[in-house]
Amino acid sequence: MDLNRYDVVVIGSGPGGFTAAVRAVQLGAKVAIIEKSLIGGTCLNCGCLPTKFLWHVLKLRQKIQKSYKYGFKVNLEPIVFSNILVEKDKNIANLRKGMRMILASYNVDVIEGVASFRDRNNLMVSNYERNSILEIFANKIIIASGTSPSAMKGFVFDDNRIINSTCALNLEKIPRNMLIVGGGVVGVEMATIFSGFGCRITLAENESCLLPNEDREVSEEIKKNLTKQGVDVLVSCFDALNDINKYEKVLIATGRIPNNNLKLERAGIKTIGKGFVETNEFCQTNVSNIYAVGDIAGKSLLAYTAQSEGAIAAKNAVKMNSISANNFVVPQVVFSMPQSSSVKVSNFLEYRDIIYGKFPFTASGRAFIENERCGFVKCAVDKASKKPLAFWIVGAYSDELINVASQIIKSDIYYMSRESIFHPSFSENLFNAYEDAFDRCVELVKK
Ligand SMILES: Cc1cc2nc3c(=O)[nH]c(=O)nc-3n(C[C@H](O)[C@H](O)[C@H](O)COP(=O)(O)OP(=O)(O)OC[C@H]3O[C@@H](n4cnc5c(N)ncnc54)[C@H](O)[C@@H]3O)c2cc1C
Repeated sequence: MDLNRYDVVVIGSGPGGFTAAVRAVQLGAKVAIIEKSLIGGTCLNCGCLPTKFLWHVLKLRQKIQKSYKYGFKVNLEPIVFSNILVEKDKNIANLRKGMRMILASYNVDVIEGVASFRDRNNLMVSNYERNSILEIFANKIIIASGTSPSAMKGFVFDDNRIINSTCALNLEKIPRNMLIVGGGVVGVEMATIFSGFGCRITLAENESCLLPNEDREVSEEIKKNLTKQGVDVLVSCFDALNDINKYEKVLIATGRIPNNNLKLERAGIKTIGKGFVETNEFCQTNVSNIYAVGDIAGKSLLAYTAQSEGAIAAKNAVKMNSISANNFVVPQVVFSMPQSSSVKVSNFLEYRDIIYGKFPFTASGRAFIENERCGFVKCAVDKASKKPLAFWIVGAYSDELINVASQIIKSDIYYMSRESIFHPSFSENLFNAYEDAFDRCVELVKK
């Protein structure tokens, strides 16, 4: 058995673990990262990137279809999904190569295998292919082991008929029809992608609307657009799984469970809820030399939360708890068609006197000339201080616009002004929605 010693060892190479490892080296630590599967984690291999790749392909097709207006006459061949998957995998593999290059450039030791705790400082790494076990000593450990799709009671994923999002992203061909159970972000994105590629989709959600945590107007708009695209959207639906025989595939997208199979009890690490690792504001567990970041800590299952927590945990591990996590402003994005996004201050509900403004994309010159007229920006403003508190955007580029909105809200500004926003742009829609909250948007007809 080899004994390897490190200042910091990171378990998992998704966005949380990757960021933690690189940042810890930048701060002067000797670092190893342990990965049992592919570098990049869920985000790169079966989450953010593959879904956005497939969405991008659909969007491209849509743009080509719409281009006849300008005299471009293109004959589109039927989609061969397996060819698209080859291209997806090529892109993902290249990005993975890039991540490996970065880790190598920082001299992070990448250890392949399954990590588990022996105690609060010692880890075992089992590599079943090589039939080897490695023992590692770490002063500080950062757990970034992520989550996996959770099945539903009475149903097991068989990677054939009852599938999860990972399996769906690797289907050889587009099924004739598919039931998607779960109308959250993953369910909506999968419905958008697969219906776009020609699959007859039924999307079932047991709450009274899609994306139950989203603003009702946004969720209604998403439902309307999905229905227009041919998706059968069922809300308040509790019996979707009663008759699954009529579907070629059943995709269960009802949530994720923590990858906590690390023998945490040997180090005395506490878990909460469904088994997420409990952490404080420093991303530190109840065991002082052990930190946890990203999905496994369960605060929000988003890649950028994982990245942010990864950087915070690395700094705290190397520099003794010097910074705490700040989730005051965290945007949310859904790749429906068109995209939708939202951001608000975390204490939004404490504001008592809020005024709202709304600006439709049909009134935007830039959206109009680009033929991206579907959608709107809605803005919430604190009436007394005039501070923008929230933005909801449905429409083209809303995944980019929301980052601007986040910065506006976070920068604590108390007004938005015309001279600092380029025209014609999609981002001026944010300004126009803000102006509408005061009934003074000059780009809208008089109310
Ligand atoms: C379909 C889908 C689409 C998504 N789209 C988005 C999006 O657009 N934007 C966004 O922000 N988020 C998105 N997410 C969520 C995002 O992917 C996750 O929040 C993010 O990947 C979490 O990062 P992480 O580092 O915590 O964990 P992960 O990315 O899950 O990485 C964990 C890594 O740890 C490894 N690991 C686990 N246990 C061990 C062990 N014992 N030993 C060694 N290695 C181990 C795993 O193999 C994995 O590589 C999406 C998720 C899904 C499923």
